[in-house]
Amino acid sequence: MIVSPHHLDLTVTGKQHLDIHLADGLSLPLTIVHRGQGPAVLVAGGTHGDEFEGQIALTRLARTIAADDVLGTLILMPFHNVPACQAGTRLTPGDGCDLNRLYGRPHGSGPAHLIARFVETTLLPRIDWVIDLHSGGKAHEFVLSSNVQARYPSAECDAMLAPLLAFDAPYAIVFDEVPASPHMPHGGTLEDAARALGKKAISSELGGAGRATPQSLAVAERGLRNLLSHIGVVPSDDARRPEQSRSRLLFLGRPEHHVTIATTGCFAPLVELGTEVRRGDLLGHIESRETAEAIHAPTAGVVIAVASRGRQQKGNAVIYLADDITPEKT
Ligand SMILES: [Zn+2]
Repeated sequence: MIVSPHHLDLTVTGKQHLDIHLADGLSLPLTIVHRGQGPAVLVAGGTHGDEFEGQIALTRLARTIAADDVLGTLILMPFHNVPACQAGTRLTPGDGCDLNRLYGRPHGSGPAHLIARFVETTLLPRIDWVIDLHSGGKAHEFVLSSNVQARYPSAECDAMLAPLLAFDAPYAIVFDEVPASPHMPHGGTLEDAARALGKKAISSELGGAGRATPQSLAVAERGLRNLLSHIGVVPSDDARRPEQSRSRLLFLGRPEHHVTIATTGCFAPLVELGTEVRRGDLLGHIESRETAEAIHAPTAGVVIAVASRGRQQKGNAVIYLADDITPEKT
């Protein structure tokens, strides 16, 4: 059913498949399930159109979930950046907008701006939680992980550890912003906008390299079910609880965690996802006809992301490292 943003009603008992009309040729698909009293949760996939796990997991959940499964309000938004999802690209085709850099900022008139404005003004004020399912897209591959944006250590981080661990992905990562770094900023993201309004936000990095895998999809779907049960909006007897979590807890937030390169050329990695490296270890090379740049680990850590495209530009982050902060190890 096509509805205008002004006629969106989140209090209709049952399941609604809606297309929110934002402009000619631009409709945002939402599935809204509401029953009784409980938390209101917005789940997004496809914030970047080349990240497929969230799009698939949410499409399946939208099809299969029943009103009786829900206690509260569940809003599923599988194709957050619809034009980018349709094109299979990270950014909106045409104007090259990154939807996840537009939140909390003045909005323009392109499709991504219209989507951000709708979500920010119509959905965010009416929900308690945001779950935004990302992966590494075509450019990177990440370890399968739940994520939270927070300072570490901090009271905010402590308060979010239970939902972060409830996801029960192989890794759970606390991301802090590195000042002045262009890599993985918080400003402009859906999660940051939600947190600014006092909402809780969890995201993920579930693989990438431009394709979904059976394993990444299984972790996405299972993790989402665990988290929705922990929040209470889709209670499930067989959901894993935070204290049962098998996630390895990591922290990324120091400048040395972003391993950047000084030359342009072909990236030849020497490490795999999940490898533990020591400071100074050789991580790979940037190959060009004149030189080969050796990439050394600027710090010890766990490899949590590796660039998945061959040719890399000077200044790119080709590997991300993180500190293991799993409690028994600290
Ligand atoms: Zn993303």
